[in-house]
Amino acid sequence: MTIIDQTATDASTAPALPAYRLAGVTKTYTQKGRVVHALKGVDVEIGTGDFVTIQGPTGGGKSTLLQLLGALDVPTSGHVLIGETDLAAASPAQLASLRAREIGFVFQSFNLIPTLTAAENVAMGLEPLGLDRAERDARVADALARVGLSERGDHRPGELSGGQQQRVAIARAIAKRPRVLLADEPTGNLDEQMRDEILTALEHLNAEGLTLVVVTHDSAVATRARRRLRLDRGAIHDITR
Ligand code: ADP
Ligand code: MG
Repeated sequence: MTIIDQTATDASTAPALPAYRLAGVTKTYTQKGRVVHALKGVDVEIGTGDFVTIQGPTGGGKSTLLQLLGALDVPTSGHVLIGETDLAAASPAQLASLRAREIGFVFQSFNLIPTLTAAENVAMGLEPLGLDRAERDARVADALARVGLSERGDHRPGELSGGQQQRVAIARAIAKRPRVLLADEPTGNLDEQMRDEILTALEHLNAEGLTLVVVTHDSAVATRARRRLRLDRGAIHDITR
């Protein structure tokens, strides 16, 4: 007989699960007979509501780690828990659902569709959810407002600055109301002023409870994080002062 302890699953009293728990994570690529150990036994926990940056040299494993956090790939060995889902045990349908509902992604290149307006680009992020039109429009308006672009919904990317375009990309990523936002060099293509614009938007979202994991080469970005990690040759180090 199984006794279910209701108190243990009561979300109002239970402490929030960590967003991520990684234990002994390795990732090995084999290409043309050459073996690359991209991650060599990564142990790390990322708290719900945290703001974490990941720095480190090119080839250190940052993008590989972000792909695992985004449920875009699975580890060679070890465990990646997203909330309570273990990637190694999840079905392809569960992984797809995680990506569609729980995880927002932002890239260095904004990846907006040039022929669509900002609002239409944001709506693209909601496509997999199959919302009705009213709910979709409300979420698009809300996401644009959260990044300070309420007045720009009917502008196309070509009519927006780089910083505004990246904020549209962030709105697209958060419109589904994900549990975490992952960003790979989100300010890599932006000048200083636009970088600050993006950081301010990210900090507002984090203050509202969104968990942020940001890969960056820019120490000005990293110094704004609550926690700084460094990945070097597949090994992770906490370098928070
Ligand atoms: P970073 O993002 O820190 O620059 P990556 O995670 O992209 O590092 O790469 C880590 C290592 O894994 C590098 O040696 C890279 O060449 C290798 N690597 C990454 N992706 C693949 C892949 N799909 N196939 C083979 N090797 C890969
Ligand atoms: Mg990379």
